[in-house]
Amino acid sequence: MGKSKRRPKGSNVRISYSFMKILTGSDLSRRRLPVMSAISESPGPVVWLAACGHGDEVSGIVIIQEVFRKIRRRMVCGAVHAFPLMNPLGFETRTRNITMSREDLNRSFPGNVTGSLGERIAHRIFSAIVETSPSLVLDLHSDWIESIPYVLIDRDPGGPQKTAYKKTIEAGKHAGFCVIVDSEEITKTLPHSLLLEGVPSLTLELGGPYSVNQANISHGLEAIWNMLAYLGVTEARSSTFSYPLPQGYRDARLLKYSDKPYGSRTGIIRFLVKPGDEIKAGQPFAKIVNAFGKHQETVTATNDALVLGHSDSAAAFPGMPIMAFGVPPEKPLAGKNTDAQPERLQRGGKRERSSDAGALRDSPTDAI
Ligand SMILES: [Zn+2]
Repeated sequence: MGKSKRRPKGSNVRISYSFMKILTGSDLSRRRLPVMSAISESPGPVVWLAACGHGDEVSGIVIIQEVFRKIRRRMVCGAVHAFPLMNPLGFETRTRNITMSREDLNRSFPGNVTGSLGERIAHRIFSAIVETSPSLVLDLHSDWIESIPYVLIDRDPGGPQKTAYKKTIEAGKHAGFCVIVDSEEITKTLPHSLLLEGVPSLTLELGGPYSVNQANISHGLEAIWNMLAYLGVTEARSSTFSYPLPQGYRDARLLKYSDKPYGSRTGIIRFLVKPGDEIKAGQPFAKIVNAFGKHQETVTATNDALVLGHSDSAAAFPGMPIMAFGVPPEKPLAGKNTDAQPERLQRGGKRERSSDAGALRDSPTDAI
């Protein structure tokens, strides 16, 4: 009985591991990106998984390894390809950026064959993905050390990308996480560049960076199985995974990203709520004390919101983000987003603010 049940799945799936050359080292070593593929004999949707574009965001590598350990038995049709380690140079030196050029790979897409080092690597990755006409591309990242996992979706690019954007939202809603729509347009990321190319793509923010954390691995893995099953690439799940969230934030409600308000005093941050908590407008979420422990400031929420994560830093400075929130929007987010964000150039994430690898270590937040 078990035999007849098992045979059709897996027996017709071809798993292959290969490399894509990116450059030659000064010692004449070949630097390459590992590529993983699971291809079913039955045609179907093509999905790409990508991880470690930021060298210190390591969970995604292991999540992809775990997907490939089990995919043969679960796959029904289509193909799953993966770049588990897009930035080996950053990974080996424990830095976000490409070590020698200090470029952020996730600000280098779609890349350029005659451009900078980062753009050349991005071009190779981007071309390999687009060539396969994928139904979905998932870019795996890590957020603040203390953060809940979430789906991050770009702002609606509008225009001819409408269909790809709709498909992105639908896939994101099946992850089992809360779904955050970026409040600002961040260009040159892998998902944003793919969306502009008409390819559905989103970011998974999977807890903290730096080391492999089993809870983050499990959550990421569950979210990916949810989405692969939703697309029909893998068998339907007997029970769908949902990350535990407060009542009002379940059912994949679309929320808007915010890291406001910032503090306006210098000192030591004492957090009053934790990631995953629900917070009400007017509720204090952090206080700042000075070196003697004297109260300097209490920072209060401007909206009802879900707490996504808090700063990695104990030090507060005026205008630095302290917490990130998912805020229920007044208008539905799936439609055209016309909100102006005049005063901010970048999302206030840990590593969003600067492309300088040295400065990034000490800045307080991360995002994609
Ligand atoms: Zn990242």
